[in-house]
Amino acid sequence: MTKQLIVVGGVAAGMSAAAKAKRIDPESEAVVYEKGPHISYAACGMPYFIAGDIPDYRSLFARTPEQMAKQGVQVHLRHEVTGVDPEARVVRVRALDENREFEQGYDRLVIATGARPIQPSLPGIELGNVFLLRSFTEGLALQRFVEESQPHQAIVVGGGYVGVEMAETFRRLGMQVKMVIRSGKVMRATLDDDVRALLEAELDRQGVEIIKGQPLSFEGESQVEAVSTDQGNHACDLVLLGMGVRPETALAQAAGVNLGVTGAISTDDHMRTNLPDVYSAGDCAEAFHLVTGQPDYIPLGSTANKQGRVAGSNAAGEDSAFRGIVGTMVVRAFDLVVASTGLTATQAQNQGYQVRAPLIRAKDSSHYFPGAADIHVKLVVDDSTGQLLGAQIAGQKGVAKRIDVFATALHLQLGVRDIQSLDLSYAPPFAPVWDPILVAANVAAK
Ligand code: FAD
Repeated sequence: MTKQLIVVGGVAAGMSAAAKAKRIDPESEAVVYEKGPHISYAACGMPYFIAGDIPDYRSLFARTPEQMAKQGVQVHLRHEVTGVDPEARVVRVRALDENREFEQGYDRLVIATGARPIQPSLPGIELGNVFLLRSFTEGLALQRFVEESQPHQAIVVGGGYVGVEMAETFRRLGMQVKMVIRSGKVMRATLDDDVRALLEAELDRQGVEIIKGQPLSFEGESQVEAVSTDQGNHACDLVLLGMGVRPETALAQAAGVNLGVTGAISTDDHMRTNLPDVYSAGDCAEAFHLVTGQPDYIPLGSTANKQGRVAGSNAAGEDSAFRGIVGTMVVRAFDLVVASTGLTATQAQNQGYQVRAPLIRAKDSSHYFPGAADIHVKLVVDDSTGQLLGAQIAGQKGVAKRIDVFATALHLQLGVRDIQSLDLSYAPPFAPVWDPILVAANVAAK
């Protein structure tokens, strides 16, 4: 009998799951319900689209519903799944444009409902020009506003990587930019203070003002004109809320799917939930952190794609596992690239480790090569065993390549002594003969 796979959510995790399942089991029926008007878009590209680097927004779409139909995956846009009956193996669907509800049976179900941005219930949050940046619709609205209204003063609320990317975008578009951050610390969860200082220095050099404070209200008649904070009022004609996301779990929870300690959906390494034949993947789900050995919630597109693939593969009858994450990320802030993997020194200490955490400065290419620039590498190492626990890098060139070496080392549970002897590439334009990775490992091994 033809197997019916239903996928809820049509972005990174959902579309990866549907495409993979259909490839493995071409006889199955794969149906995706997406409540929004778009599927399979690269949210990660939106800051660069808004900045004008990507002239045609259509290039941000990895797949269209028509392309998916050719692969045998039916996509229903503007269809919200409003309930799941795991005993009857049925989902309830609302066709949003037709004011119609129906039920659809499933053999396998993948919940890939993603995450929603945090929106504090502050006075004036509904004013015009207060933007979120999560869905493609929101990205398009912000881009149109910027193009048509040519705002002069932007306030970014929040200091995560999206906030940093958008601060750069707004500056490049000629605006004055302030970041209002409650802790006053940019990328508080991913960087230690010494590496953060390098990022904050670059933001300062580029004219981004960081305000340690909490927004209290958004002022204005119909459009926002100022953000009132506990540190005073700040005029603006554009606000971006970049305060992080929460996993979208209401549908799963109502169906009886267990959430984990992080508040996201709990799965095993096959992306199976506690309900039979119900899988979950992406920003709605937890991931196993390979360094802490505990479930964690670090919502990223890189993880969503892999988890979706594993969920789709298992839903189609294969035996596929997602081992876990080490929390690797990289962000560009003007002329600086900052990256992190594993635990920061603070996180490692909170986990009970005694750590060594040297920060070294080296050149990113041979010192005599034109354009050679400083690169800073910080390693976090278990003091008693020499095991690598994390790394942070800030520099101009080769940052992403180098953090990936440390991410791989974390996956393989290498110690600094193993890293010291890695046979890494060397030629003057790309690295000094002692790559900064090796220099950092040598210092950390002492
Ligand atoms: P989502 O993208 O949240 O998609 C879930 C979908 O499910 C949504 O479209 C939603 O409408 C739909 N849905 C929810 N409930 C229902 C329902 N009941 N019925 C039907 N449909 C439903 N990650 C990186 O790794 N690197 C980056 O550089 C990076 N940059 C980013 C920049 C920006 C501006 C943003 C916003 C995100 C960025 N990310 C990045 C994160 C990345 O985009 C997300 O991790 C990824 O989109 C998660 O995919 P997902 O499919 O799990 O969830």
